[in-house]
Formats: sequence, structure tokens, C-alpha cells
Amino acid sequence: MSHSIEITRTTSHKTKPAVDRLGFGIHFTDHMFIMDYEAGKGWYSPRIVPYQPISMDPAAKVFHYGQTVFEGLKAYRTNDEKILLFRPQSNFKRLNRSNVRLSIPAVDADLALEALQQLVAIDRDWIPAEEGTSLYIRPFIIATQAALGVAPSTKYQFIIIMSPVGAYYAEGVHPVKIFVESDYVRAVKGGTGDAKTAGNYAAGLKAQEEAAEKGYSQVLWLDGVHKKYIEEVGSMNVFFKINGTVVTPALNGSILEGITRHSMLQLLAHWNIPVEERTLSIQEIYDAQRDGTLEEAFGTGTAAVISPIGELNWKGEKLVIGDGGTGQLSQKLYDTLTGIQTGAVADPFGWTIE
Ligand code: PMP
Repeated sequence: MSHSIEITRTTSHKTKPAVDRLGFGIHFTDHMFIMDYEAGKGWYSPRIVPYQPISMDPAAKVFHYGQTVFEGLKAYRTNDEKILLFRPQSNFKRLNRSNVRLSIPAVDADLALEALQQLVAIDRDWIPAEEGTSLYIRPFIIATQAALGVAPSTKYQFIIIMSPVGAYYAEGVHPVKIFVESDYVRAVKGGTGDAKTAGNYAAGLKAQEEAAEKGYSQVLWLDGVHKKYIEEVGSMNVFFKINGTVVTPALNGSILEGITRHSMLQLLAHWNIPVEERTLSIQEIYDAQRDGTLEEAFGTGTAAVISPIGELNWKGEKLVIGDGGTGQLSQKLYDTLTGIQTGAVADPFGWTIE
């Protein structure tokens, strides 16, 4: 199906940043996609316009009640100058699952994909080619009705912006130190942990800040009720290799279903490496370490793909994983997935689309 997306091209192209100055999410491309929603009318007026500020009424519900959802995915430039999107349909499906939880009307996933493909094509010169770089894509929806009553908004905007991003690991994949959070919690079952919505991230900042003061890059989130069971690490899903088996927390309603997580599970199954999705306590990790069966630990997400965990600190008890370096399996997963994403490794799963 083809949708009519109105296109207004910019007349003044921005200067592109030097590749060593890209950073993450600080520079934005020349264009953006916008579409509006009104109760009774549905989604209307899909359009690509020059990247610009948006004007909103100060009473817009998003400012007061956080009725908003977002996504994060990437486009990559291949060696033969093709542009690949990695599993974009999965992101739009997840966006609609988040929409359900936040009482936001669903978007047409086919239209969203088509809009994204057109937007990427228009701004394709913004996609860096250097190893490890990519175009980070941020679709999001905000409640724009100007009304202070606590009720679902009658108006929304769906916007897609894009940012060329630098190599996450400029000097190769390297492990990080993680603080196991025993006071603050990220999410509980029945809450919004399995939706990608702003409030979850705002609520996590304090713990992240305190962990950083203690010298840790991120926190490992435990379950909100018992503070015993492992959920996520920072804004990544988490995996442990214990005695040859890869274990990751089962999706339980308070964990975000990562697309990288899903890809890792499929890759591991493809390689016949035993995998378990189950309840996993932090005590089990410390016990495995004592028994000598804890082999590797890593987080997974769109931004870094894999972030190996070199050290944990749980209530002052420090644990160094392996030799504190990047594990063999972590490296292999990283190389394979980034290879598929950039077209350097064959994609047997049909994950990338041009
Ligand atoms: N958990 C949280 C809380 C996240 O924000 C993210 C990033 N979207 C992930 C996990 C990883 O998800 P993905 O692999 O889809 O990037």
C-alpha cells in the first residue's frame, strides 16, 4: 500500500559534523517526519518537513502527565553504499504495544515504515560510513491537547527525528562496571516497565546519577517487589553465561522487550548454544561466581549492541567477571550482529531491509 506523504524539502542544508565529533544524539539531519491525530479524525497529514522546532501550548498534556512513547533504531551504510534498516517493523510493533499501555491511539505500522524509508532516503547523505557509526532514528508520539484534566489526550503528534551517531566503542568493545541497585526500582509488574515511555527513564535518572558518583557506568535493576531478581541493566537487557548456558530474565511485564535481546536469542539458538529465559536472582550470580561457573555477562541494546559487564557491586560486595575483559561469546555476538547490521555478514534471518 502506498500512502501520500507530503514532502517539503529544506532550502538551507545544515553543515554536517566531522565524524570524530558525532557523539550520540546531539546532531540532527535536515528533515523530520510529522503526522497529527485528532479524536474522530484519526491520524492525518503525514509529511516530511525541514527539521525545525515545534510549537506547543504550555497546557499540552505531555508536559504535565507524560503521555508519550518513543522508539530507537538505527540505519547503517554498507560498504557498497546501500542503506540498511535493522528490524524496523519490530520497533513499530513495539511502539504500538507501548501505545496501548499509555492510552495512545495506534499508528499504522506500514505507513510509519514507509515514512521512515522516505525520510532516510531524503537524508541519506547524513549517514556516516566509518566503522561503528550509524544513523540513530527516534520515532516518538506526544499528547498535544491543551487541557489539564487527567484523561487521555484527544490530540497527538507522531514525529521521527534522526541523528548521525559516532562509534560507541572507538577503541574496541570494552566492559563496564555496574552497580546493583537495591533501593530505587525501575518498574513493577502492572506498571509501565514493558512500555517505552518517558517516565521510566526520568524515574531512573537518580539511581544512575548516584551510581556514577560511586564510579559505576550504570545500574543493574532488580525486581521492584523482592529486590532479588534481575531485570535489566541501565537501558539494556541483560544476559549471563553460566556453565555454558546463556541465561536472561524472562519477560515478566516489567522488562522492556528489547529487539537486540530477541536477536541475540535467535543467534544463540542458531548456533545451538543452550539458552534459558527464566527468573534469575542476583544471589545466583554471586553463587555461580563462587562456584567458578560464571563465565560472561553483558547488556544488549540498540545503542551499544553489546556492553560487556566487567564488574558488579551488590551491597558493597564486588565481583569481577572472568578476567574483567570482554568474553569470547560477547565478542562473537557483537561481531556477528554488527556484521549483519552493516551488511558485512550474511543475514540468514531477514532482519535488515534496504
Ligand atoms: N531496556 C530498556 C529499558 C531500553 O530502554 C532499551 C533500549 N530501547 C532496551 C532494554 C534494549 O532494547 P533494544 O534492544 O530494542 O534497543
